[in-house]
Amino acid sequence: MASKKNYHMSPQQLNENGQLLLNWLENYYTNIEKYPVMSKVSPGSVRAALPSEPPQQGEGFQEILKDIDRVILPGITHWQSPNFFAYFPANASGPAILGDLLSAGLGVQGMMWVTSPACTELETHVLDWLVDMLDLPGKFKSSHNGGGVIQDTASSASLCALLAARERITNYGANREGCNGKLVVYTSTQGHLSIEKAVKIAGLGNQNLRLVPVDKNSAMVPEALTNLISDDKKRGKIPCFVAATTGTTSSTAFDPLDKIGPICQKENVWLHVDAAMAGTAALCPEFRFIHNGIEYADSYCFNPHKWMFTNFDCDCFYVADRKVLIKTLSILPEYLKNKATESGAVIDYRDWHIPLGRRFRSLKLWFVIRHYGIEGLQFHVRKHVEMARELVSWIEQDHRFELAAPAPLNLVCFRHKAGDAFNEKLVERLNQSGKIFLTHTRLNGSYVIRFCIGQTHTERHHVEKAWQLIGETAERIQDELS
Ligand code: PLP
Repeated sequence: MASKKNYHMSPQQLNENGQLLLNWLENYYTNIEKYPVMSKVSPGSVRAALPSEPPQQGEGFQEILKDIDRVILPGITHWQSPNFFAYFPANASGPAILGDLLSAGLGVQGMMWVTSPACTELETHVLDWLVDMLDLPGKFKSSHNGGGVIQDTASSASLCALLAARERITNYGANREGCNGKLVVYTSTQGHLSIEKAVKIAGLGNQNLRLVPVDKNSAMVPEALTNLISDDKKRGKIPCFVAATTGTTSSTAFDPLDKIGPICQKENVWLHVDAAMAGTAALCPEFRFIHNGIEYADSYCFNPHKWMFTNFDCDCFYVADRKVLIKTLSILPEYLKNKATESGAVIDYRDWHIPLGRRFRSLKLWFVIRHYGIEGLQFHVRKHVEMARELVSWIEQDHRFELAAPAPLNLVCFRHKAGDAFNEKLVERLNQSGKIFLTHTRLNGSYVIRFCIGQTHTERHHVEKAWQLIGETAERIQDELS
């Protein structure tokens, strides 16, 4: 007879331990400002604090929790700190955390409609809601020819868009030889690295990636795109894919979609719009200028996991023609055949992205939208933009600093007038202080400090204190140098 012994955590223990973990999280969020924002550990120190062998016998949950404090916390860079102004945010919120917990608890693998109908249908529904919430073109809705799907990241979304563009032009799945070495991809010099990576993964060849010049505000120059396309055609190349950016990583520049769109349409080139961070701003009607010309897009993506209070990972990817995406990514082996799929009446999201398996990610998005409501989301996005505008005004009033780019939303790019080396030192000192975390970029060849305001719990006083700290630290460095 099989032994009844088991090592599992019972539902009751799950509840008890879950309470401990939720208490831990309450404590973490309450005290988050006490930790240095950027982790100070040196390489290898987290591993050095871990036993070299895994435990032979299982351990109590309390023991595991102790090691979260002892080993893990020191090695955490606190992305959820209100003093985190680095990169673009990856903001989390209570409803999203709980939605993710529920997703883990249900443990659904939603690769096809039949493997959990709610996993597919909630996702379709919430992504359709978002089309209205951001005022995106109706063609991206599942009730039209398009539809949306949650991908892990914008990088994956852009890769899928590129693969679909190749399929549309070459019927690649059936004819791999078709256009080998001829397809060309265009993005601006400010386009995200994920486009170059997509070209690499798709095997199109780096020599077939064109970086289109930008204007003084870092936006793609449409005439330059036209010229590059025309040159490529003369050389027997086949223009295939334009990745325009709505809110570039370095400085939230907006490529002029209303001018790029007609070029793509005329040349039969797929237009993908990457709005990874900035897309969330379109929740507010006054920021919808960021999507001017979006009606030309064949595909579009934005990341609720950046600025829409939905913890990582969650990218919403839309296509205007779902058939071509499905044709690109679908393979149906015998072991996945089922009546629902055969009926044609359901969506099987496994055909909309690269992995087969998928989590129930729409739960966290649904929880977020229901918790905040459109009004609450708009309120917080507006608040971030207002704080950024105030920071801009402080920079403009300070003779030591200058703005390095327009700040249309929540990212402020600026520098101290004392030059690159000084700014580099300034960022290093600020980050070492543990009080705030900032990152940098280069614009027009110069080192620039990026200050992005998108953290869930960032308030005006955090930004004000950070600005004070920047001024004081700059003063100290200047004293040392003089
Ligand atoms: N596109 C833009 C404009 C970005 O700023 C980023 C990341 O910051 C990405 C794409 C990549 O995002 P992900 O990490 O979701 O791939």
